[in-house]
Amino acid sequence: PRTSISRHADAAHTGKEAARERREQRRREVTLLRALPYEPHQRWWDRLEPRAVAVVTGANRGIGFEAARQLALHGLHVVLTSRDAAKGQDAAERIRGEAPDEACVSVEWRQLDVADAASVEAFATWALETHGGIHVLVNNAGVNFNKGPDNSVEFAEQVIETNYYGTKRMIDAMIPLMKPSPYGARIVNVSSRLGRVNGRRNRIGDASLRDQLLNDDCLSEQLIDEMIKKFLEQVRQGTWSSDQWPQMYTDYSVLKLAVNAYTRLMSRRLSDRPDGQKIYMNCFCPGWVKTAMTGWEGNISAEEGADTGVWLALLPCEQGTNGKFFAERREISF
Ligand code: NDP
Repeated sequence: PRTSISRHADAAHTGKEAARERREQRRREVTLLRALPYEPHQRWWDRLEPRAVAVVTGANRGIGFEAARQLALHGLHVVLTSRDAAKGQDAAERIRGEAPDEACVSVEWRQLDVADAASVEAFATWALETHGGIHVLVNNAGVNFNKGPDNSVEFAEQVIETNYYGTKRMIDAMIPLMKPSPYGARIVNVSSRLGRVNGRRNRIGDASLRDQLLNDDCLSEQLIDEMIKKFLEQVRQGTWSSDQWPQMYTDYSVLKLAVNAYTRLMSRRLSDRPDGQKIYMNCFCPGWVKTAMTGWEGNISAEEGADTGVWLALLPCEQGTNGKFFAERREISF
C-alpha cells in the first residue's frame, strides 16, 4: 500500500513537473512573440528624427551584447559601451557585420566603466555633446564571482560597487540627459529573481526591513544604502551570517535586492514629470542564462535572456509601465 509520504513525494514531483512545463510553455510563447515584427504604429522610435539613441552598459558580451544587437536591429542608434576598447569595438563590428542592410543598422562604441565615477562623467559629457542626450538606457553591467553551489562574499565590495552603485551612478548621470519625447524615455535595469524581498529560499532575515523595503512610505535611498553598508560592514568584520542575509550568492542577491528597491523608488520620483518629459523605469530578471557569468551553465541563450529588457525598452507608450519588475514579458512581484 502507498504511504502518505510516498503520495506526498508524488504530489511534489508532479508539482515540479507542472511548473517546469509551464516555464517551457512560456518560453515557447516568448520565442513566438519575439519573432513578430512591431507594427508601424508601435514603432515610436521611427518617428524620432534624428534616430532614438539607446545606451547599453557592459555590452561587449552576454546579455548586454544581445540587448545592443536587438535594439540596433529594431532600428535605434545604439551606443554599445564597454570598459575594454578592443572588446567593445569588436562587438560593435559584429553587430554591423550581421545586419541585413548596413545602412539601417547604426552602432557606435564608447568606453564606459560604471564603477569609475570619472568614466561615467566623461561618458555623460560626450553623450550630451554628441547626441544632445539619449532616449533609452539599459543598465546591464555586472559581475558575480559565485558559480554553482559556491557562496563566497570575498568580492562583495566589487560586486556591489559595479552592479548597484554603478547602476545608480548611471541613472543619476543619465536622467538629466534623457531627451524630452512624446513617447517617453526608458530606463531598464537588469536584475534577478535572486533579489526578491520575500524569495522563498533566499531572503534577508529581518522581517521588519523586508516590510519597509516593500512599503512605498518607508522606502528611501537611506534605507537601501544603510542595508548595503550594514552588509558590507559585517562582511569586513567576518560576522555576517546566512540566516540574516540571502543564502544563495549572498552579495549578488543583496545588490539585486537594492537595484530592485532603487528602481521602485526612482520610478516613483520620476512619475510626476509632465507629459513630453516622462521617463519610465523598470527592472527585469533575464532568467538563468548561458553567459560567462554562469560559466555557460544557464538554460537559455543570451538572445532569449535579453528579450524582456528589449521589450521593456521598446514598449509602446500607451502601455507605458513604470516601477515594475518583469520576467518573460510578464510582471512579477518584487
Ligand atoms: P557577462 O559576464 O557575460 O557580462 C557582464 C558584462 O558586464 C561584461 O560585458 C562585463 O565587461 C561588464 N562589466 C563588468 N564590470 C563592468 C564595469 N565596471 N563597467 C562596465 N561594464 C562592466 O554576464 P551576463 O551577460 O550574464 O550579465 C549581464 C547582466 O545580467 C548582469 O547585470 C547580471 O547580473 C544579470 N543577470 C544575469 C543572469 C544570468 O543567468 N547570466 C541572471 C540574472 C541576471 P568585461 O568583459 O569587461 O568584464
